Amino acid sequence: MPELTAWRELPLGGVVRPGDTAPPHTGGWRTGLKPVVRLESCVNCLLCWLYCPDSAVQLDGTTFVGFDYDVCKGCELCAVVCPVDAIAMVEDDGD
Ligand code: SF4
Ligand code: SF4
Repeated sequence: MPELTAWRELPLGGVVRPGDTAPPHTGGWRTGLKPVVRLESCVNCLLCWLYCPDSAVQLDGTTFVGFDYDVCKGCELCAVVCPVDAIAMVEDDGD
């Protein structure tokens, strides 16, 4: 049986460092719907931010300001959890 190499002496494999990969663009395969918000109805509870699986809810500090359509997949979770129905899902126009 050949002698085994100690793990510390193995050559490094692929290393991915923060910033090495391209930014995600999951919004390119959205469901066909996208969220829009009526900011005048928003009470800034941030439930949409908490539940969004794609970090597509944008904040300015701790204030809800809108959606990042580059990463929103149109899953509708934000609209479902919004307690004041400030979010509507509309047909995706490709923006
Ligand atoms: S539709 Fe889904 S992915 Fe898009 S902002 Fe709402 S929760 Fe996030
Ligand atoms: S869930 Fe609705 S009320 Fe709460 S921050 Fe989001 S849009 Fe505003």
